[in-house]
Amino acid sequence: MPKPNPRHPNFPIPSGPVLRAKGWRQEALLRLLENVLAVGEDPEKLIVYAALGKAARNWAAHRQIVETLTTMDEDQTLIIQSGKPIGLLQTHAQAPLVIMANCNIVGQWAKAEVFYELEKKGLIAWGGLTAGAWQYIGSQGVIQGTYEIFMRIAEKRFGGSLAGRFILTAGMGGMGGAQPLAGRMAGAAILDVDVDPQRAARRKEIGYLEEIAPDLDTALEMIAAAVRDKRALSVGLVANAAEVYPEILRRGIIPDIVTDQTSAHDLVYGYVPKGMSLDEVKRLRVDGQGQLMAASRASIADHVRAMLGFQVAGSEVFDNGNLIRTQAKQAGVENAFDIPIFTEAYLRPLFARAIGPFRWMALSGEASDIARIDDLVLEMFPDNKIVTNWIRLARQYVPFEGMPARIAWLGHGERTALALAVNALVRSGELAGPVAFSRDHLDAGAMAHPNIMTENMKDGSDAIADWPLLDAMLLTASMADLVVIHSGGGGYAGYMTSAGVTLVADGTEAGDARLSHALTNDTSLGVMRYADAGYDEAVDEAEKQGIGWFDLRGS
Ligand code: NAD
Repeated sequence: MPKPNPRHPNFPIPSGPVLRAKGWRQEALLRLLENVLAVGEDPEKLIVYAALGKAARNWAAHRQIVETLTTMDEDQTLIIQSGKPIGLLQTHAQAPLVIMANCNIVGQWAKAEVFYELEKKGLIAWGGLTAGAWQYIGSQGVIQGTYEIFMRIAEKRFGGSLAGRFILTAGMGGMGGAQPLAGRMAGAAILDVDVDPQRAARRKEIGYLEEIAPDLDTALEMIAAAVRDKRALSVGLVANAAEVYPEILRRGIIPDIVTDQTSAHDLVYGYVPKGMSLDEVKRLRVDGQGQLMAASRASIADHVRAMLGFQVAGSEVFDNGNLIRTQAKQAGVENAFDIPIFTEAYLRPLFARAIGPFRWMALSGEASDIARIDDLVLEMFPDNKIVTNWIRLARQYVPFEGMPARIAWLGHGERTALALAVNALVRSGELAGPVAFSRDHLDAGAMAHPNIMTENMKDGSDAIADWPLLDAMLLTASMADLVVIHSGGGGYAGYMTSAGVTLVADGTEAGDARLSHALTNDTSLGVMRYADAGYDEAVDEAEKQGIGWFDLRGS
């Protein structure tokens, strides 16, 4: 029986032992599709997060996907093109059940305007990253990434602790909503500004945000008091960041860390320009897109100029993956890229070892399955400080949204070992049901994004999309249950290409083979990608782990 979902009553949370599909693999993908809508921002419109990130092209497409997953055999493959099911073909029982290509537009045409046009004609949909591939698990999916960024900054600049430090950020949407909790978990006083009162209320309701301040003065007083007492605190403020950031700078208040996660990638359906009400913006989205884009750009320019002002004044400022620098540069802020991207600044040494955002979902719907796997992770990787610290914190702080799930940054070999151990628990009946494994697309071998993941690569290979394409082919050859090739990214067209994967630990021996091949090869390619680009950590990892990499550097 599905569980009720108070936030979206029409989208219950899948759970229980009863199968509607012909096997657990198909049922798993069906439940993951249901889950991304259950935890999504606007499921009635099929929107999961990031303004337009959709789970399916339209409701007819969604109905056909559900019907096919329910009736298909294990030796068939469902083909999905930008959220629309195209057909079902005979393959074999070790082939993926679902392959997808989402939002891939040929190079010269890969522009936001072309995307909007194709979208209007119903020919394409943007799948976000994990939305269209049915892998999103709520804001938890980015909490650890955000937390690890904050902790790397703590190590780099603040003696390892953020107690008594002030983080300023904006955006409390599907992804950005993770920031207040991640900041609090890192021990800081964090102020998160969002223009939409409903978004702030939602984050408070689910326990990701502690307080909503009535105005800027009060918000700054609350933060100052927490900083003084070295107390962790998350405060939300309903306001426009393009107004609030310059005002805080004008007052000479310099936060220790500044970032932003408004949906700046989307000048029409995402970002809200300063001086405009939400209703006005909604109207312009229909009949004034050009005007709205211009206003968003101008506003982002002020927003980023303030971020640069904080940087000059000594704040640690970084771009958190929303293309705000790119938009600002196009709006004339020539030095927008003085702000570094988080991947290069803090996380690249982890990616070079293929350590990245791995996650698992309890298909039974039982939180006890996640608790058992938490124990397993602590037993299996006692010396992995990042992961053991994270699992303990996540247990204490991170509420589940939708189907119980956990994210943990695991690397090459660790992912496979954990998945096989979980599959054994499923087989022995120790868990209430099978478990699905997935990862963010922002993973070592899986993403080419010259403004996020691969900015300033050592060998200059930032824009080469061969890696995610190879990854998707490799995952298909390695028997993954679902494989997706995805392009677009924030800005919708032309910014990135990524590969996504989902696997089902259904307790079978065939499941062992799928998990082992796909997870091992996925991270092997990640290590190879960074070794090839000249990263010492990756070369070391390839040697240590016996990954079959050909070292042809310099030849
Ligand atoms: P979302 O659309 O769900 O939420 C965006 C929020 O920004 C909304 O709540 C909106 O009200 C608010 N907002 C818009 N303009 C504002 C303004 N001027 N001032 C204050 N608030 C404003 O989007 P999301 O899923 O939270 O993603 C946010 C951004 O982060 C996107 O650009 C997305 O592509 C990016 N992202 C980056 C990563 C990463 O790599 N770190 C991961 C996921 C998402």
